[in-house]
Amino acid sequence: MQPEDFPEDIRGHILPKPGGDLRYDCLKCGGSFPPDALHYVCPECGGLLLVNDHAEDRLRERPGPFWRRLFDYRLMANVQALRGVFCYHELLAPNIPLEDVVYLGEAHTPAVRAPEALEREVEAPFYVKLDGLNPSASFKDRGMAAALSFVKHLIRVQGKSGVMAVCASTGDTSAAAALYSASLGGAVKAAVLLPKGYVTPQQLSQPLGAGAGVFELPGVFDDCMKVVEKLSEAYEVVLLNSKNPWRVLGQESYAFETAQQFDWETGDLMLFVPVGNAGNITAVLGGLLKLYRARVIERLPRVTAVQSERANPVFRYYASPPEGRTYRPVKVRPSVAQAAMIGDPVSFPRLARLAAEYEEARGPGSFQAVEVTEQAIMDSMILANRSGLTVCTQGGESLAGLRAALAGGLIAKGETAVLDSTAHALKFMEFQNAYFRGELSADYGVASRTENMNAPRGLELKGVTLPAQGKALSPEESRIFTEAAAGEIAAALGLSPKA
Ligand SMILES: *Cc1c(COP(=O)(O)O)cnc(C)c1O
Ligand SMILES: [Zn+2]
Repeated sequence: MQPEDFPEDIRGHILPKPGGDLRYDCLKCGGSFPPDALHYVCPECGGLLLVNDHAEDRLRERPGPFWRRLFDYRLMANVQALRGVFCYHELLAPNIPLEDVVYLGEAHTPAVRAPEALEREVEAPFYVKLDGLNPSASFKDRGMAAALSFVKHLIRVQGKSGVMAVCASTGDTSAAAALYSASLGGAVKAAVLLPKGYVTPQQLSQPLGAGAGVFELPGVFDDCMKVVEKLSEAYEVVLLNSKNPWRVLGQESYAFETAQQFDWETGDLMLFVPVGNAGNITAVLGGLLKLYRARVIERLPRVTAVQSERANPVFRYYASPPEGRTYRPVKVRPSVAQAAMIGDPVSFPRLARLAAEYEEARGPGSFQAVEVTEQAIMDSMILANRSGLTVCTQGGESLAGLRAALAGGLIAKGETAVLDSTAHALKFMEFQNAYFRGELSADYGVASRTENMNAPRGLELKGVTLPAQGKALSPEESRIFTEAAAGEIAAALGLSPKA
């Protein structure tokens, strides 16, 4: 639809104009800095930053129904820059003009009601938001769309050139960083640092395919992160890790969309989010709070962070009563939820801040954390994928989190769960296939359940001439081969002949 085709009260608002008063706010010293440069940490004290709109109150000048109507209509606007995370321009990064918006098909991923058989098995109604359907097959595209839009904006208004973007990654950040950088046609080059042996072949192929510099480092993600931080301190680079607060803004779109997909009725939802570096959970909480402050939603949902017991610093922190909480990084052990295998989450201070604000707004227990076993993660991923979904191991972790919450009585009757399936199943097929081969026990302590296992089957086809590369069967040989193969498959499947 074209802007002139919208109802009169909406028409003038479909194309947002730059606005707001965005500032980098330091969580440590309270300093505040204008958005005329890229900062990853506070220029004064080195603390962690969030970008906030200091003119956010202007959104309250219009009632909630206005915003709901506007965002709903905007979904129909045939404007590339509004098709992705910037559909929520006023809430997200209103300082960035539409002409600078980078859009590669991200966002507006479906929230799919779990198929009936799966709900029966889990014994609860729930939805799965398939964020693996983003262009690089994970939610990280949401953050990169915002971060690279801001970079593009700075390039245009400040004439920057020769930008080198870097990130450390458990696989998906680098895929997204490489993809979005590549779209800027040489203005931005990307280099990514990966822990050797801890990303899947699919994830490794993505930045390679997008033409980024790819460095494999010994150690785990936390080690790569330290090197990238050193690079960003000492050299002229654009840091694309979630330390970059613009990424957090883009990832808030997950919260906006989820609310919209439930017609802005969020009070009885419980969102499950797998947590690694804690960027995503920060964005989800921050996004929901924004919607609430602007009265776009009237009631906040509850939110549950999910971690593997092998990488669980956030769970450990929230397992203690509020008075007794101290944050301690953990040493991770190999986890099938490899994209969340992080022992010292960079965004922890942001999470602690926003979780406290969240509980203030929605009451005690509105934010909680659960931990799950590797076995539960794998079994849940396989169950979901055998039920018509396409979830990755981290999506399996979300489902395992829902099951843990149900078992522990942490979800109330009448609450509907929304699980974040953060990446596409295909990125993490290695784990599924290793499970099917029974090879996950030594490193991950996961036993393969025989009823879940699956493997390709061959055919015997004794005494039949077989097709082979470069050799055509005669018509008679072909007829015999086809008949024999069909016969064996029918026998294996127990098919009954047509009457
Ligand atoms: C990055 C990632 C996570 C963890 O998100 P954080 O923001 O690091 O907490 C979970 N799942 C997938 C698939 C990811 O790529
Ligand atoms: Zn500071």
